[in-house]
Amino acid sequence: QKHDSLGYTRIRRVAPIAVNTHGGRAKCLQRLIRLDLPVPETVALSFDAVRKLADGQSVDVKDMLNSFGPRPLLCVRPSSEDPDWGGPGAMLNIGMNDQRHAELTKSHGAEVADALYLRFVQSYAIHIERLDPEEFENEKSLPSDQALKAALDAYENETDEAFPQEVEVQVFKVLRSMARAWLGTTARLLRQAKGAPADAGLGLIVQAMSFGVGPGESGTGLIQMIDEDTGAPLIRGRYKRQSLGRFRLSDDTKALYLTSDPRGPSLEQDCPDVFDKLTTYSALCRSKLREEMQIEFVVENGKLAILDAVRVNRSTRAALRTAVQLAEDGIIPKSEAVLRIPPRSLTELLHPQIDPSTQRDVIASGIAASPGGAVGRLVFSSAAAQASSARGESCILVRRETAPEDIRGMHSSVGVLTERGGVTSHAAVIARGMGVPCVVGASVSINTRSKTITASDGRVLKEGDTITLDGSAGQALLGATKMLPPAKDYWYLQLMDWADDIRDIDVRANADTPADAAMARGFKAQGIGLCRTEHMFFDGDRLTVMREMIFAATDADRQEAIARLLPMQRSDFIELFRIMQGQPVCIRLLDPPLHEFLPSDRAGAKELAEALDMPLSDVTRRIEWLSEFNPMLGMRGVRLGITFPEIYAMQARAIFEATIEASKIGDPVVPEVMIPLVSAMREVEMVKTQVDAVAAAVRNEKGADFTYRLGVMVETPRAALRAHEIAQHAAFLSFGTNDLTQMAYGLSRDDAGRFMNSYIQQGVFPEDPFHTLDVDGVGELLTIGADRGRKAAPDITLSVCGEHGGNPESIAFCRAAGFDYVSCSPFRVPVARLAAAQLVA
Ligand code: PEP
Ligand code: MG
Repeated sequence: QKHDSLGYTRIRRVAPIAVNTHGGRAKCLQRLIRLDLPVPETVALSFDAVRKLADGQSVDVKDMLNSFGPRPLLCVRPSSEDPDWGGPGAMLNIGMNDQRHAELTKSHGAEVADALYLRFVQSYAIHIERLDPEEFENEKSLPSDQALKAALDAYENETDEAFPQEVEVQVFKVLRSMARAWLGTTARLLRQAKGAPADAGLGLIVQAMSFGVGPGESGTGLIQMIDEDTGAPLIRGRYKRQSLGRFRLSDDTKALYLTSDPRGPSLEQDCPDVFDKLTTYSALCRSKLREEMQIEFVVENGKLAILDAVRVNRSTRAALRTAVQLAEDGIIPKSEAVLRIPPRSLTELLHPQIDPSTQRDVIASGIAASPGGAVGRLVFSSAAAQASSARGESCILVRRETAPEDIRGMHSSVGVLTERGGVTSHAAVIARGMGVPCVVGASVSINTRSKTITASDGRVLKEGDTITLDGSAGQALLGATKMLPPAKDYWYLQLMDWADDIRDIDVRANADTPADAAMARGFKAQGIGLCRTEHMFFDGDRLTVMREMIFAATDADRQEAIARLLPMQRSDFIELFRIMQGQPVCIRLLDPPLHEFLPSDRAGAKELAEALDMPLSDVTRRIEWLSEFNPMLGMRGVRLGITFPEIYAMQARAIFEATIEASKIGDPVVPEVMIPLVSAMREVEMVKTQVDAVAAAVRNEKGADFTYRLGVMVETPRAALRAHEIAQHAAFLSFGTNDLTQMAYGLSRDDAGRFMNSYIQQGVFPEDPFHTLDVDGVGELLTIGADRGRKAAPDITLSVCGEHGGNPESIAFCRAAGFDYVSCSPFRVPVARLAAAQLVA
């Protein structure tokens, strides 16, 4: 029933109302009406109608008002497409004027009439006419009639006009003001952080008021059937007698309990029939709307009205439990439960917490803005955060306060610390949305120029220093603190089991150390897809031996140093195989340029000279000799393996000896050996010949047999283009999309942070290609590599082990391209498992 240019639809059982034209609230109200719930007369304005209002088009609201009979009192509420996107606050009691005031004085008494009128004048003045709130908020101490008069006078003083008496004027201005509020910058940023598109629309609901004041049993309340933090079944809510406005759960002064309660009177005892109806309606909503709803109700002279129902505003944990419970009750299929949880939101459940038994060296306290604990190095700009994350280093972003241009930097950080702000400041809102631990308003002074923070006790920390952030307690602690893995409850495990049953692409973890591997196992990774062995050489002793190897003057010296590295590597691998028992473990031979193992400054070089008992000049000469103009494009990966074959030979031996050892104590292990940074078939042939020879030698020496798989990392465009040749010598191809992106774009992983923000803002790139796979370019290299590789070796295993392996959009690409698995950091494994399932469900 469309009328004049405003355009509205009366909500009826049969009426053209849809979530994407009128918003979720409008659709929900229609559903309540279809369930025969007593909903007062309601009309819906579409996104289009609201847009016209915001544009300043004058419309006639008379026709719409006719729906409500003579002299209505109305309320207006927002109806956005997704309830998480928010919207302007509701306006109540529209239509109050002198005449209605006189009538209400007769029917409900002067105090009620004064209070209703006063509330309306106040909110109209403050929210619609945007007058100074102070002028309207100091009437509390006056008797009600004087307070009302003061507010009406203040209105007239501020606007030079009497308070509008015509309902048409009031309604029109309220609608227009709410339509415009939706377009405000803050509102837009907030909803975009929750995934709303730039052009998200707002619908509005106009509803006849029911009064929770007056003769007989009257009041307002809320009811929901679960605890919003845990999702556990629990009748929760309150009912407030003789209540003028909307009821909020936080506002429980003098409110009744819903269920019988020893602490005081309850709705169940005092009004059992109302209580029964409410629980029946709640159960009906749950089974028919297939969701846990919070119902807002009014009792007017004993008669129940249902004003609204919204999905219970709940934590991720509660959302997950609700989805699983609804599926277990047969209300939704399991596949839908799997679809209901945004994969990225799992990180909230998965966050580690700081071990409560650890000693805390608190360097700053502030507001606990986003929960969970994180350890990282301090960085002072978003660019530094992005560079750090591109290097695979965890960082904590420190800012005086954050602004929208920091969002990408926040994405790259494991924690955020700000000097200013409160629970709803930008940093807090965004960090919570991302599930990143965050402390705001911290007791530190930040100097972004010198890149230092000074604690209130005078201690100074600089860029690169490690701290632990406790977003749950609002503290920053000095150093890395022991963390506890998060609790994964029955509901989480159940949902993830269903996800695993549904998905058809495997998920492995990138894990370098036994601790990573244990975590990966805990997250149910199906093996290790990438073990970066260089991370095993950075521990104290090992680094020294590694450096001795690099500085060896003769082949014999080098062999001697390598022989000392062998048992260390072997024990690492035995441990990894033990933890991952029965699952594939893919070990990458040494990848980084050797100079990464050497000190970068003079003091470090001096220390090294002492440790190696060499003249400083020899040390610096060697460091200089190893330095390269473009180290990422220099002697690294397989190039290193071919130049110093002893290193790969040692690693292969360590892997095979560990295989034999680990197979004695558990399931047989089939290790995977992976060659990095290949660009030519001949490189693979040469390394394969060598590794095969080591395997034969180990078999011979130990008198034990084992199998292994040798594969290639496709990280250079040439490797993708020549995949048909390479595949002839490889059991698997694993696409290293970090380097492949770097090389496809000719864009340094470590320097991209400098201008990525500006690139994204100017729309040069739609997304950071190191974050979300560039399907058009890098994706084509993947497809070419996969097709050519499969043509030469139809059974070859294909995977992605770059950072993109944990990105839901990139997983979709890999699955469509027929890859066997993706591999990502342990914490992203559950996200990847769920994201993969959603592609099928
Ligand atoms: C890659 O390049 O994608 C990769 C996984 O290797 P790294 O990140 O260690 O260079
Ligand atoms: Mg790489």
